[in-house]
Amino acid sequence: MDTIARALDAVRATIPAGVELVAVSKFHPVEALAEAYAAGQRLFGESRVQELAVKVPALPADISWHFIGHLQTNKVRQLIALRPALIESVDSERLLRAIDAESERAGIVSRVLMQVHVAQEETKFGLTPDEMLAFFTSRAYESLRATHICGLMAMASNTDDMTRVAADFARVAALKTEIQQACPDLRGFDALSMGMSHDYSLAIAAGATLVRVGSAIFGDRSY
Ligand SMILES: *Cc1c(COP(=O)(O)O)cnc(C)c1O
Repeated sequence: MDTIARALDAVRATIPAGVELVAVSKFHPVEALAEAYAAGQRLFGESRVQELAVKVPALPADISWHFIGHLQTNKVRQLIALRPALIESVDSERLLRAIDAESERAGIVSRVLMQVHVAQEETKFGLTPDEMLAFFTSRAYESLRATHICGLMAMASNTDDMTRVAADFARVAALKTEIQQACPDLRGFDALSMGMSHDYSLAIAAGATLVRVGSAIFGDRSY
């Protein structure tokens, strides 16, 4: 068995039923993804539109692609044309509106997650928990015509302090519940994408339904 298949098996063994594994393949060559595919993986995460545009046509059509990177408004059309199964990283209302307009134009419904900013770092993207709650309680989502918001995505603080990481995950999970309670009409809002290679077990314990695991499967990335 090759290295990627073995690593994939090891990660899968730690993921309970009901939690989906997104294999984050950014910066890895098509051959690496093909190995994971041969080992049964069908869900991949990519963070750059340019890279996704190369990988989608090079790999089997039954792969589900999640977009997980910061998306510039001027790349929305190109991304929608690639038909990602889920855009996980909607980090502003402006971007959400652009995705909605482009999806309507393309005659499809896009599935998205809204990205929450809970990490300590200023560099991370997303709406703060207060902004997110305000967005939902204002019912701004009711005017969407071709976009289905399926849940929330977040990254924890980039720290070895696992108490802090667990607190970040708990905060996002609580926010999801608050939104569900504030907006009982919101349908199919149940996904919670959080957790990466070093912290996905904590994320699962906090209620993640999707984990995004890269280096634990594919090894280190050379940027
Ligand atoms: C790269 C990336 C991951 C995976 O990180 P690893 O540490 O390699 O598991 C997860 N989520 C997002 C948003 C990423 O950009």
